[in-house]
Amino acid sequence: MSLKRILLIILALFLLSIDANAGTKRVFVTIGTGGVTGVYYPTGGAISRMINKKYKVYGIKATVESTAGSVYNINAVLSGDLEFGIAQSDRQYQAYHGLAEWSKLGPQKRLRSIFSIHPESITLIASVNSGIKSLKDLRGKRVNIGNPGSGQLQNSKDVLQAAGIPLSSIHIEQVKAVEAPALLQDGRIDAFFYTVGHPNGNIKEATSGRIKVRIIPITGPGIEKLLLKYPYYAKTVIPIKFYPKAENKEDVESIGVKATFVTSVDVDERIVYAITKEVFENLEEFKKLHPAYSVLTKENMLKGLSAPIHRGALRYYREAGLIKYIDPRLIKE
Ligand code: GLU
Repeated sequence: MSLKRILLIILALFLLSIDANAGTKRVFVTIGTGGVTGVYYPTGGAISRMINKKYKVYGIKATVESTAGSVYNINAVLSGDLEFGIAQSDRQYQAYHGLAEWSKLGPQKRLRSIFSIHPESITLIASVNSGIKSLKDLRGKRVNIGNPGSGQLQNSKDVLQAAGIPLSSIHIEQVKAVEAPALLQDGRIDAFFYTVGHPNGNIKEATSGRIKVRIIPITGPGIEKLLLKYPYYAKTVIPIKFYPKAENKEDVESIGVKATFVTSVDVDERIVYAITKEVFENLEEFKKLHPAYSVLTKENMLKGLSAPIHRGALRYYREAGLIKYIDPRLIKE
């Protein structure tokens, strides 16, 4: 091989090793979401869109994965299988403090929060012919309480316990939320729980079939006690205008949590900084991507978090003067 050829090969290898984008290292990251008819899936899409638009600046390419939900996402982020995940605020709290699914594993101290997103309501859907009008009517019925790995599984258990309905008194199903509307419409279940933002395709599908369905309020003395017991539950209202084919004529009272964006302490500060910055600096554009985001403000996106805020996000919040909205207990570097 001639010297000239060797030099050309070395030059080619050198050119290949440097990035075309001002020397930034190219990275691929994946965001864990939920079922395709929920709100997490389009939320992962909205976040990835914000960062992918700036590929030339940051060299970051984000993709979205449909998953079993919050608990799966937290575990996948902690094991390094996913870089980011969307998870309910109550599940973030439980993971960080070693409760519920994490009670045997202990506190998940490597979990980091980034920001919170839309509110989610515990949504209980029942067929009219099942006769279910309130929580107490669930006894003896076939009820989907949520798949393992989902956020809603623990919410359904909490609500049933608060309403004084032992799990042993109902016929439990544990299928993914994405499958529940069809099961309800086929008459194979009487009701299902789904903790989700509104509007969403899943509840639209469940309410628009041949079988008439009702959204059941999550209310009562037991629920009032539940609200006092757990810091992460708050009262919510499901606007019935989103589901005109449901039997209800009025908005439905419920309780709920918030969707949050999480990662692990091991994810590169540069990546978390870039994603946080792009979502916050383009918040008005982001909000147009789903009607569930209409209530978002920079301030309320920093509430409802319980794991420490990732250092990359903190860097942005400091720069943008948003640090004043953050609970100081979440600032650990
Ligand atoms: N809250 C659900 C969960 O954590 C997901 C809801 C959605 O996909 O919008 O599993």
